[in-house]
Amino acid sequence: MNIIETTDISKRYVMGSEVIDALKSITIAVRKGEYVAFMGPSGSGKSTLMNIIGCLDTPTAGRYVLNGQDVSNMSENELAEVRNKEIGFVFQTFNLLPRQSSLENVALPLIYAGYNKADRTEKAMLALKNVGLENRAGHKPNELSGGQRQRVAVARALVNDPSILLADEPTGNLDSKTSYEIMDLFDQIHSKGNTVIMVTHEEDIAQYAHRVVRLRDGLIETDIRNTNIRKAK
Ligand code: ADP
Ligand code: ADP
Repeated sequence: MNIIETTDISKRYVMGSEVIDALKSITIAVRKGEYVAFMGPSGSGKSTLMNIIGCLDTPTAGRYVLNGQDVSNMSENELAEVRNKEIGFVFQTFNLLPRQSSLENVALPLIYAGYNKADRTEKAMLALKNVGLENRAGHKPNELSGGQRQRVAVARALVNDPSILLADEPTGNLDSKTSYEIMDLFDQIHSKGNTVIMVTHEEDIAQYAHRVVRLRDGLIETDIRNTNIRKAK
């Protein structure tokens, strides 16, 4: 089953007299459970495509079907609802709330989802356990290493059991040893059946994915099954 299906999606930015075709015609399908890396030079359209896939933005033209639902022409509110249900986001800069503990950060999406406090705590603790941080539940972000912060962010992304983990340069702020630990975690997440999509400009990080899609000038340049998958451990 295809969890993501885009058909000829394009994105045009118009700023005064300047017209930028950030995405020209992207047709791509991602099956449930795939692990895909998007690569490409700066300005090739990676962020624009991720924003559309993650329901943060809509295409100017074309069709996007996410988990069986056509989201191409949805309103902001409808899109937000789909996003909260289907997508877990991980960012280069972790985006954790600095004054909140790991547990509180991870529990945040559950507040919006309407869970009561006891259920939130239970689910958030389980998510922290799944990333190996159950003994850091009370720590605030500045009391954690970079790798631990990113693991908290991954726990938060997955706490609602989304269909897709969407990671934008997840190792961009980490040293190489810590990056490999995060890639090990992504391997575990993928092996549990989750769909994982990441953007990276690091060749060796992309090699952990099972499929590498390269963008150039708003088009898919290559889309290759990775036959030499790197393993973190
Ligand atoms: P990448 O993530 O690969 O660096 P982007 O998707 O950010 O590429 O950008 C693709 C193109 O679209 C670039 O030329 C960029 O300047 C332009 N662009 C991206 N976002 C906007 C925006 N909000 N308004 C105008 N132009 C944009
Ligand atoms: P790593 O070896 O994983 O990079 P660090 O050397 O940064 O981790 O930290 C070692 C341990 O000390 C971590 O388990 C972390 O929870 C804790 N720690 C790191 N920085 C702080 C801090 N500023 N305050 C309290 N505990 C911290």
